[in-house]
Amino acid sequence: MPAPLRLQGIPASAGYAEGPLFDIDRPPAAYAGKASSEEERTSLQAAIGKAVSRLVAMVEASDSDAAGILEFHIAMLEDDALSGPAFAAINSGLPADLAWRQALDAEIAGYTASEQDYFRARATDLLDIRDQVLRALTDDGGGAAPIGAILYGEDIAPTRFLETDWSAGGGIALKAGSAASHVAMLARSRGVPMVVGLVDPPAAPAGIALLDAEHGSIVLAPSATETGSFREALSAFAGRQVNARTFLAQPAKTRAGTAVRVQVNIAYPDDVDGIDIATCDGVGLMRTEFLFGKTLPDEETQYRAYRKVLEWAGAKPVTIRTVDAGGDKPVPGFTVEEGNPFLGLRGIRLSLTRLDIFRVQIRALLRAAVHGNLKVMFPMIAMAEEYARAAALFAEEQAGLVARGVAQLMPPLGIMVEVPSVAIAPEAFAGVAFLSIGSNDLTQYVMAAARDNAAVTHLNSVLHPAVLRLIGSVAVFGREHGIAVSLCGDAGGDPASIPALIEAGLRDLSVAPAQLAMAKAAISEVPV
Ligand code: PEP
Ligand code: MG
Repeated sequence: MPAPLRLQGIPASAGYAEGPLFDIDRPPAAYAGKASSEEERTSLQAAIGKAVSRLVAMVEASDSDAAGILEFHIAMLEDDALSGPAFAAINSGLPADLAWRQALDAEIAGYTASEQDYFRARATDLLDIRDQVLRALTDDGGGAAPIGAILYGEDIAPTRFLETDWSAGGGIALKAGSAASHVAMLARSRGVPMVVGLVDPPAAPAGIALLDAEHGSIVLAPSATETGSFREALSAFAGRQVNARTFLAQPAKTRAGTAVRVQVNIAYPDDVDGIDIATCDGVGLMRTEFLFGKTLPDEETQYRAYRKVLEWAGAKPVTIRTVDAGGDKPVPGFTVEEGNPFLGLRGIRLSLTRLDIFRVQIRALLRAAVHGNLKVMFPMIAMAEEYARAAALFAEEQAGLVARGVAQLMPPLGIMVEVPSVAIAPEAFAGVAFLSIGSNDLTQYVMAAARDNAAVTHLNSVLHPAVLRLIGSVAVFGREHGIAVSLCGDAGGDPASIPALIEAGLRDLSVAPAQLAMAKAAISEVPV
């Protein structure tokens, strides 16, 4: 019996899982070669077709955020430029599995070497595509994990996440990965426990493991005592969740009776499908960069997406943020290759250099505004001039729509407070309609600790006095100038940070939908 081993990592989606480890990096089963190149070609063609059919079936069973990722994989598999080198290698005598692996590995190496996060992230997609076809070639049952397993390995592909049956529990423990990744977002929205960045992980351990994704650890080969205390922690967590749900239906207030508005953060219009509008105070942040995922959406597509959320919210406010591309959220055809993208052309800076793209979004927002209670905010504002230019573009586009007789409405325009210059000297922004504190970026810029770097997580804390003092001073500025101040960074949904945020003077938080109940419950315990 191996000795228990506790590994520490970073929590990416809170929860607990006890189950068998499943090695997501295990190689596919061996391929039985064919007698001729002709047969090898047919066999590869059939395997690609099989992989595409599996993906098509998954698209039909998925919501739109997941479907977007799967459709991207289908498009890549159907692209002759990807499979061409593999078929050429078969012609020169290689078996189908080797030909496909070599062709894809060459492609993957190019992406992995890229300076840009976006292209490195695409390497994960290609790895996924490579293994899907290899599994199809060997009839390797899709490599599906047993129900309730803890998926363990280097990193996890979105399709692997989506094809896994999470209905009976299970979790994810990764040696690499990032809490800001797409899969982490999917895991949070589906309540799948996930830990990333495990320190000193063994290659491929087996057996039962205990995943504590509330605190970010996993115990391999646990002792009976560890299992006992893990189960206690798990049931305490489950109890807190059940208890928290009783707060959902009521407006949030502290123990002293102070009302706190709690809105939700969304990324895709379909995110609202599973939320009862009665349980929240509106949408405090709709991130629009994910709509810009693989291709730039046209005005009609954006208009429909915004309108759907506004109609869902009825009279409650919906704050839509103009596209915050760049940083760790690159968009092909839009963002630029830079050495230090978090400090580069990101958010409003990029939108103001690509007015062709920005104006399309502005028109879609002005048109959608007639369908609800819309507010619009700009990301990564550092200078008042940026706000003034963006507001002037809204006025110009409104005039254009009026001239064409198109229905439109000017929404209140506000800004994100996530660059320290704004938090330190907010007086330049006395004319904005509202302020929304982006604690994720504010923290990383105040602490000089990247939000996606596991090595500096200990520095990236919203509870550092420097960050809290800035948040408090923004709240004071808002009160003194009659400007509404809210907070839409992840700290707003973190029960450990909520007391300090309320004590800093905030009365309006926006949180991930999965954290709504826990956030309201945590607010109810704050004394002020
Ligand atoms: C933030 O920075 O806190 C924020 C809400 O924006 P994002 O996480 O999208 O950068
Ligand atoms: Mg931000």
